[in-house]
Amino acid sequence: MTQPLKKRKLDNQINRKLLDFDFEKTCSVTLSSNNINCCLTCGKYFQGNSPSSPAYNHSITSGHTKYLNLTNHKFFVLPENTEWEGISSVQDIIYYLDPQYTKQSIEESPETALDLNNEKYLVGYVGLNNFKSNSYINVVLHCLAHIEPIRDFYLLLPKHKHYETITRKSPINDKLSLLVRKIWSPHLFKSHIAPHELINCISEISNKKFTIEHEQPPKNFLIWLVNTLHSQLVKTTKSKHTTFSQNLQGKIEITTIPIISQEVKSRVEFTTIESKSKTVESKFWLLSLDIPHNPLLTAQLDKIEEVEIEALLEKYNGTTQTQVNENEVRTYKVLEPLPPYLIISFEKTSNSTVVKFPEILNMNKYTKSDKEINYKLVSTIRQDNQWSISLQRKNNWISI
Ligand SMILES: [Zn+2]
Repeated sequence: MTQPLKKRKLDNQINRKLLDFDFEKTCSVTLSSNNINCCLTCGKYFQGNSPSSPAYNHSITSGHTKYLNLTNHKFFVLPENTEWEGISSVQDIIYYLDPQYTKQSIEESPETALDLNNEKYLVGYVGLNNFKSNSYINVVLHCLAHIEPIRDFYLLLPKHKHYETITRKSPINDKLSLLVRKIWSPHLFKSHIAPHELINCISEISNKKFTIEHEQPPKNFLIWLVNTLHSQLVKTTKSKHTTFSQNLQGKIEITTIPIISQEVKSRVEFTTIESKSKTVESKFWLLSLDIPHNPLLTAQLDKIEEVEIEALLEKYNGTTQTQVNENEVRTYKVLEPLPPYLIISFEKTSNSTVVKFPEILNMNKYTKSDKEINYKLVSTIRQDNQWSISLQRKNNWISI
């Protein structure tokens, strides 16, 4: 007879609405990040569990007795400092703190789930908080979290044979894994996530180049992030192939041709010197396209010009010459095999041009291949007041 009463009393000490595991796991008293426990009554973080530790003192002064250790995920009672048995009723808190996946659970993941308020949310399509000016970071994180093989790599990272090394030597990969696992979690208490821990890590590693304070072009951030994640995975897994090189990286042949200019009948003419051209092969994470600037159209603000992406991609057919400075032109040729996922960035000089994307983009005319190399548009990133991403989900577009 006493057991159910005791259990109910203990459960009254748990206030799920105050639990938030998105923020830095540091002690609210000492600011230390060692051996941190979450008080399940008020949601605050306290260090230690021995007598005179901040957590112990908190239990004495507040009467809050239930705690969760954020490192070993054990529930315990203070001030007695005893482990708490019968944790099945609080397993949802562990799912919320540290979602885990198997190949099977990914396949069987529900499309929708309920948060603590019984509000339905679309699993995988939850918002990331914009603290200040970090929407440029959020869209890139969402973009990567929706590239299926990259998503699955991060969902299953805790089961990776080098996971222990990765957590120790590459916090950015570890924290991205936790964020992706939260984004795809059907066990969220609230249907938005604060990417605080990962952004702090990004800010630190990039020497404050990418922070919440100053907006940056998502393209620059994406290249930096993918380079960083890839190179740290190469080091920690001792393999030159990573989910990024396998899914996003392509090869390109760049030929640089010198040009000379001469005045002919008061006109400047350029001549290319093909015999002095140099060709190098390079790798790319994304292809940049320049949208032609039409000042006449920009002057007429209501006029929107449309340009086909196929026409812009002619830049990469190996024969179109692009002037890079007054002494050189370049040709670019994308090489096979192209990556399974192609990221294209537009250098825009005005808002009066719309790029049209076909239902299926066949890249073989740029590689001069016989077989079709088809791509379908699955996500777009754009800037209005802030950066937003649209993701394709079952033939519908969802904007976040
Ligand atoms: Zn408390």
